[in-house]
Amino acid sequence: MRTYSATAISLVVHKYRGTRRLAVFFSRERGKVEAVARGVGKPGSKLASLVEPLTLSKLSLAKGRELDHLTEGEVVNPFYGLRSDMRRFGYASYIAELTARATEPGLPMPRLFDALQASLEALEDEATPEIITWGFALQLLEQLGVGPVLEQCANCGRSLTGQLCYSPSVGGLICADCRPGESGVLDISGMTAGLLRCMATFPIDRLARLSCPPTSREEISQLVRRHIEYHLDFTSKSERFLREIEASDNPLQDGDEQG
Ligand SMILES: [Zn+2]
Repeated sequence: MRTYSATAISLVVHKYRGTRRLAVFFSRERGKVEAVARGVGKPGSKLASLVEPLTLSKLSLAKGRELDHLTEGEVVNPFYGLRSDMRRFGYASYIAELTARATEPGLPMPRLFDALQASLEALEDEATPEIITWGFALQLLEQLGVGPVLEQCANCGRSLTGQLCYSPSVGGLICADCRPGESGVLDISGMTAGLLRCMATFPIDRLARLSCPPTSREEISQLVRRHIEYHLDFTSKSERFLREIEASDNPLQDGDEQG
């Protein structure tokens, strides 16, 4: 049997035939890897800690006819800081779910892997996890080639000044002259536009130092969510939980929910 090794972060794990589990990893070497781990449901399993979502490990895997098998491995970072705090855990779970849904098996994306690892590290002790989360999401979209246009008007290409807006179908920020008449257009301030450009390009560990007022935070969260929904056709299982966290954090959002 052909074997290979991978440095990987467990994203999602599903029950699979008795005590087996089907784990979805994102690896530095091979992008998304889906593998079966035997005996994880039994007490004392050596593989259980490796498939636990949000764990960074060095893995050994064996090629299977349909699915690969996890044979052994060593935990490098279990990100304990995420597990002691429901907010951080909620945002980290969203990031993991988004990565699992948006990426393809066997397509290496080492820059995205590094951004994922840096995001989980930053979330472990970050007071405003939404900036890390939406920053990671923007970088993921960018690397998949479907990022929002942020540098100039997505419609006419002119530089962005004054009151801007965003429309998912146009695919980015829009100048005042090109503002579409359709519903679902989101108002975006010049300050938010600047923050979005930083978040899409800065190394993740620098995002923790960005100062972001609550109004911009709300605009960013709405823009990134709508862009992901429209361009990746992705609605998250962690989303509801995330919205509850945000509503309790951010009194500005009261009464402004969209389904
Ligand atoms: Zn324009």
